Amino acid sequence: MPLPKSQEFPWGHKRRFNAYSEYLRLLFGGRIQKLSVDAGFSCPNRDGTIAYGGCTFCNNEAFNPSYCSPDKSITQQLYEGIEFHKTRYRRSSKYLAYFQAYTNTHAELQRLIMLYDEALSVPDVIGLVIGTRPDCVDCEQLDYFENLSKNYYIVIEYGIESCNDHTLNLINRGHTFKQSVWALEESRRRGIKNGAHFIIGLPGESRKEILNQAKIISKLPIDNIKFHQLQILRNTEMEKQYSQNPDLFELFELDEYIDFIIEYIELLSHNMIIERFTAETPPRYRIAPDWGNLRTDQILQMIENKLAEKDSWQGKRYNQ
Ligand code: SF4
Repeated sequence: MPLPKSQEFPWGHKRRFNAYSEYLRLLFGGRIQKLSVDAGFSCPNRDGTIAYGGCTFCNNEAFNPSYCSPDKSITQQLYEGIEFHKTRYRRSSKYLAYFQAYTNTHAELQRLIMLYDEALSVPDVIGLVIGTRPDCVDCEQLDYFENLSKNYYIVIEYGIESCNDHTLNLINRGHTFKQSVWALEESRRRGIKNGAHFIIGLPGESRKEILNQAKIISKLPIDNIKFHQLQILRNTEMEKQYSQNPDLFELFELDEYIDFIIEYIELLSHNMIIERFTAETPPRYRIAPDWGNLRTDQILQMIENKLAEKDSWQGKRYNQ
């Protein structure tokens, strides 16, 4: 790909990657804020539907904002979320209800419809982002989402984590990469927007192998993509594995991660909208790596500075 002038990036703005925040701004003409809700779902990888114990890295509590609790109604959580964000970002005007905790399609369709309808009836909520597993959506649900997508902004966000079945097995995901491809393709075929979540640095994956995954991912029908660095969190199976055998893990130091993620997105298709490069968890949950107490937005700024310094951008080496 020839060197573009900054204003000529194919995604229509000057940032060096296809940024989700800019995409939403261009689509809706203003700032859009996601509000997390915890609808009290379980997870099939914990309740025995697929397995017990869950994914080895998972501590869902570490990602749940304080205003989210299944003891409160969806409506109450959303109103509290709106208040919380109004004080932080005065300009937020429209919202997406983010069904984030656990597996948000793991129930009968009638119950799902009731919960999603409740969220969509809150003023200024213009759509839903639904976090789930690729093996936990069926055709009936997808038909329903297809219809809902005609009137609302709907994204189904799949935890894919890796393209490698050996890794998926090692982290006890309980699904295969083929199932992820099925879910993405079925969503795209129905015109439902999708998101895909990947963890960078899972045990057993070399740096070269992870970079190769960027090429594999680029061929998939993904709309939005989220990355985060592998973190060892408290009260997880991975914490035990890490304490017993730290050599199994090749965790990224911050500087290395910044260079690596730039190399990674150079190989990634420019069509994919990137929502996140890193995860931020409260220090009380974190075992390793130690990146200090930098916030996600501070690390994002470091990545953008490095992209400019290297004169690099998403897709620079795509298809090479
Ligand atoms: S990451 Fe998702 S699928 Fe895995 S145990 Fe946690 S909630 Fe369940």
